[in-house]
Amino acid sequence: MYLVGANALSEGIYFRVRKFSCNFKNARLFFCSILPDLGSNMSILASRLSRIKPSATNALTGLVSELKAQGRDVIGLGAGEPDFDTPDNIKEAAVEAIRRGETKYTPVPGTLALRNAIAGKLERENGLNYDPTKQITVGTGGKQIIFNAMMASLNAGDEVIIPAPYWVSYPDMVALAEGTPVFVNCPETKRFKMSPEALRSVITPNTKWLILNSPSNPTGAAYTTKELRELADILLQYPNVWILTDDIYEHVIYDDFTFSTIAEVEPKLYHRTLILNGMSKVYSMTGWRLGYAAGPEELISGMNNIQSQSTTHATSISQAAGVEALEGTQEFILPNNKLFRERRDLVVSMLNQAEGINCLVPEGAFYVYPSCDGVINKTTPNGKLVVNDTDFVTYLLESEGVAVVQGAAFGLSPHFRISYATDTELLREACARIQNACASLV
Ligand code: PLP
Repeated sequence: MYLVGANALSEGIYFRVRKFSCNFKNARLFFCSILPDLGSNMSILASRLSRIKPSATNALTGLVSELKAQGRDVIGLGAGEPDFDTPDNIKEAAVEAIRRGETKYTPVPGTLALRNAIAGKLERENGLNYDPTKQITVGTGGKQIIFNAMMASLNAGDEVIIPAPYWVSYPDMVALAEGTPVFVNCPETKRFKMSPEALRSVITPNTKWLILNSPSNPTGAAYTTKELRELADILLQYPNVWILTDDIYEHVIYDDFTFSTIAEVEPKLYHRTLILNGMSKVYSMTGWRLGYAAGPEELISGMNNIQSQSTTHATSISQAAGVEALEGTQEFILPNNKLFRERRDLVVSMLNQAEGINCLVPEGAFYVYPSCDGVINKTTPNGKLVVNDTDFVTYLLESEGVAVVQGAAFGLSPHFRISYATDTELLREACARIQNACASLV
C-alpha cells in the first residue's frame, strides 16, 4: 500500500512518499520518513557546539600554512611545538615495534609496558607512587586526557577554576562537558600567577576542579614549590575541590628553576589530584599523539570508560615509542633547553626594545606573553585604529607577515603570545619586524 503525506509547500516543508506495509518495523520506517524535511532551515549541528569555538592556536597554524602556500612571506610564531626532531632512539623504538608486529589493539588505558614506564617516571622524578594497573591511563595526547577527565567527572553546573591567561582548550573542554569555567585574573603584575587569596575568593560549593598549569602555556610562568605550598594550604580547607595539574612543560625550565607538582608538595592532596603529562613537548613528539594521566582509581576508570567509547586507545606504535622516550636517554633535554633559553633571552630583549611592548622573562615552557598595552589606541600607517590585541596581531600579520596569537584567545588582554620554539634566525627576523611595525604606529 502507498501513502502520500501532506504537502505543506507554503511553509517550505515537504513530506515524502513511502511504501507502507503493516508490520512494526516498516511502520517505524514510515513514521521516520514522514518527519518533515526541513532542508536548509535546520542545522545538522548539535546545540553543544554553540558552547565552544575552534582552537585559536590551531586556526592560526592553518592560516599560516595557507598564506605560505599562496607564496606569502609569513613567519609563524603561533604553533606550540618544538622545531626539534623526535630523538632517533625513540623513532627506532617505533620502527622495531612495527617489525615485531605491535600493530594491533592494545588495552584501553595503554600497554602495561608503557604504564609501567610512566609509573617509574612518576616515582623517580616526582616521588609519587601509582599502581600502573589501576591509576594510570594513556590517551592520544594530553588534550584527549583532559577531555576524558572533564567528560568523566563534570555534571551540568559544576564549576572549574581556570587561572587566566590559560591554555586555549581548557574552557571549551569544560563547556563541552557541561561544566562552568570560572576564571581567575592573573595579571602581569602578579607574574601571571594565581595568589592564594585569589584562589580562595572563587571557590564555591559548586567547585569541582582547579586546573593548574605550570610551566604555563601561554605565559611560561611556573609556580615555585613555596607558591604551590601556599595554594595547597587553601585547597586543604576545601576537601571537595579536585586538582588537575597539567605538567606537560615539566622539563622545559630555565635558570635553575626547580619543578614541583602539587601532590608532591602536599601529599594530602594526592587522593584528589590528577596529574597530566605527555610526550609532545619534551620529546618533540607532537604528531605521535601521546599523553598520560595518573590519579585516583575511580576517576581513571571513568576516563577509561569514556575513551573506550571514543578512540579506544593511543596508537600501539606511539605507545612503544613512548616507553623508549621515558626509559631511554634523556640527554637531549639539557641542550634543547639551552637553545630554548637563548631564544627566550633574544626574544624578550628584542621585544622590550619595541615601542609600546613590555615582556617579562618567563621561567619555563617556550612562550612569552608580552603586553601590547602601549600600542593600544595608536593608528596604523593605513589609518586603522588599534583598539585591542586582536587588532594588533592582525596588523602584525598584514603589515609584516608575523603571525602571533592575540591575548584575547587566552583570556587576558592586551597581550599576545609568541612561541619561540622555532629557528633562532627566524625569531630574530620576526622580532625585528615587530619592532618595525610598532615604530610605524602613530
Ligand atoms: N596542555 C598544555 C598546557 C598544552 O600547551 C598542550 C599543547 O599545546 C597540551 C596540554 C596538549 O598537548 P598534546 O595533546 O599534544 O599532548
